[in-house]
Amino acid sequence: MSSGRAVRLILSACVVLLMAGGYFIYQGVSSRSVAASVERLTRLRLWFSDPAAHPEWAINTSGRCGNAPFQYPTSGYIGFIWGDSFRIGHRHQGLDIFGGETVGVTSVVAAYPGYLSRLPEWKSSLIVRLPQDPLQPERQIWTYYTHLADANGTSYISPEFPPGTSEVYIEAGTLLGYQGNYSGDPDNPTGIHLHFSIVLDDGQGRFRNELEFGNTLDPTPYFGLPLNAEQNMGDVPVCPE
Ligand SMILES: [Zn+2]
Repeated sequence: MSSGRAVRLILSACVVLLMAGGYFIYQGVSSRSVAASVERLTRLRLWFSDPAAHPEWAINTSGRCGNAPFQYPTSGYIGFIWGDSFRIGHRHQGLDIFGGETVGVTSVVAAYPGYLSRLPEWKSSLIVRLPQDPLQPERQIWTYYTHLADANGTSYISPEFPPGTSEVYIEAGTLLGYQGNYSGDPDNPTGIHLHFSIVLDDGQGRFRNELEFGNTLDPTPYFGLPLNAEQNMGDVPVCPE
């Protein structure tokens, strides 16, 4: 995506956010957290303009914060976090990590071991089953990775995981593919990033619908980073020194 398009996207999202402020307050999303989401949009614009100017904003693939259970699944700036509101009626279900490079370049790896599946129709997405949640071992959870394809839907997922892959065991750090910008609409791709989320099980051994915010978990304790938009009022989500 061109930086011009990114800026236009961000500015239009800002306008929507400002208009929606009252709505979100009505919905119980605080005006402080809306302001923090706007601040993240502004910072993302700076990141897009010159990623090399802000290395301190970035996480790096395979690093981890302290003793957190999950390692970082890719490199880049975590531009949006769990619970960010940048569309009316929508709260962000995961993290968006923007590599600051072109499509197909920034590697994406497994944050935690598990059993990888890719539905036959998935061009840009993978899901990994964790039989034991590292923080609540009595339950099963899932980790979801998406936007691993270009604007036209050409996949950047590693060839070992073709469409229809089911329950392949992978270690943490396994290369899954590369960041892309697939949105489903070739004329309106996303910014180049990885979207990562933690998804609840339905109790029958299947993952719940990731698009529903209520089916996802706060990633904060899994990464040891401030990743909850209701609590992070504008800090760059990096590991404290
Ligand atoms: Zn996202």
